[in-house]
Amino acid sequence: LVARMRPFGTTIFAEMSALATRTGAVNLGQGFPDTDGPPEMLEAAVRAIRDGRNQYPPGPGIPELRAAIAAHQRDFWGLEYDPDGEVLVTAGATEAIAAAILAMCEAGDEVVCFEPYYDSYAASIALAGAVRRPVTLRPSDGGYSFDPDELRAAFGPRTRLVLLNSPHNPTGKVFTAEELALIAGLCLEHDAVAVTDEVYEHLVFDGAHVPLAGLPGMRDRTVQISSAGKTFSCTGWKVGWVCGPAALVSAVLRVKQFLTFVNAAPQQPAVAVALGLPRSYFTGFRDSLRDKRDRLCAGLADAGFGVLRPAGTYFVTADITPLGGSDGVEFCRSLPERCGVVAVPTQVFYDDVAAGRRLIRFAFCKRDEVLDEAVARLRKLS
Ligand code: PMP
Ligand code: GLN
Repeated sequence: LVARMRPFGTTIFAEMSALATRTGAVNLGQGFPDTDGPPEMLEAAVRAIRDGRNQYPPGPGIPELRAAIAAHQRDFWGLEYDPDGEVLVTAGATEAIAAAILAMCEAGDEVVCFEPYYDSYAASIALAGAVRRPVTLRPSDGGYSFDPDELRAAFGPRTRLVLLNSPHNPTGKVFTAEELALIAGLCLEHDAVAVTDEVYEHLVFDGAHVPLAGLPGMRDRTVQISSAGKTFSCTGWKVGWVCGPAALVSAVLRVKQFLTFVNAAPQQPAVAVALGLPRSYFTGFRDSLRDKRDRLCAGLADAGFGVLRPAGTYFVTADITPLGGSDGVEFCRSLPERCGVVAVPTQVFYDDVAAGRRLIRFAFCKRDEVLDEAVARLRKLS
């Protein structure tokens, strides 16, 4: 194994899901829903397979999906992209993130990001031989915030990219307008490109999702990334996309064509159908996840955790200190045996491990009875 990949072991999601399977615990670790997405979308995929849409689709994605993505960006966020050249379909957001970083970073270039960060960020930055410059999100006022001076200090002459995930996994933070303006200003000042991971764009419970690309001067220096996995409860389909100015999107495509060449065909017309569903689908999905957030937050507080209430995503982080815990990794490894529940320690997503040592993450994208069962088990801890 090459030296730059040696620090990366098995992903925490794989480790924790394997632990859940082995112990029969309720799995609130890895983020995937336990119900299927919209039936219209599922039927469209079955139809596509039966209709013989089973050979290599075009490299940038099928035209009807690219058109649906462009229409979605316009209708929801007021952003205009040309489906021919400014929209690219990828194998999930994961491939989009990797291809964007590989396409734009020379060895030694720096990528500003926020920690805790989604685990693939660090690995993709390392694959490119680039350097991550994390800015720490710290618990404050029941949520998370960062020190603006720390963000300013992370920028320098080698800054190439800013990688922003809002709504943010694992904290559930939705970056505020003021924070976005600061980030945009620093991108402009340092001539940096923004890569925005917006996979939870439709899961904002308090406030609103504001794409960084919509801020003044940002449209032409932002690569927006999203995915069908979360919005349409189909994490196993791995359909993602990139929107941005043609020059940046074609750079991402140059790399993407040698990573996967193209993506699975039959899911593409199905995701096009899903993106065209009426607004009531998107708001109904959000409202149902908001109820689940409230349900799990209340249950975790009852069980004795220090709950950091998320404004978005389908994750809630909790402080284990009130339950006598001091190390999230140890806590999560022993949790199945202690009470039959799996969660994810968030310290593995920090360079500054001490900042996340006492925090763990629970996923609430589960049926109510599963959440209730998890809470009943967690209550036995105190
Ligand atoms: N970014 C974030 C913040 C995520 O939580 C995930 C997991 N869905 C991904 C990217 C990867 O998305 P996909 O499964 O579409 O590759
Ligand atoms: N995005 C999901 C999570 O954060 C699943 C990620 C994965 O399994 N790679 O839990």
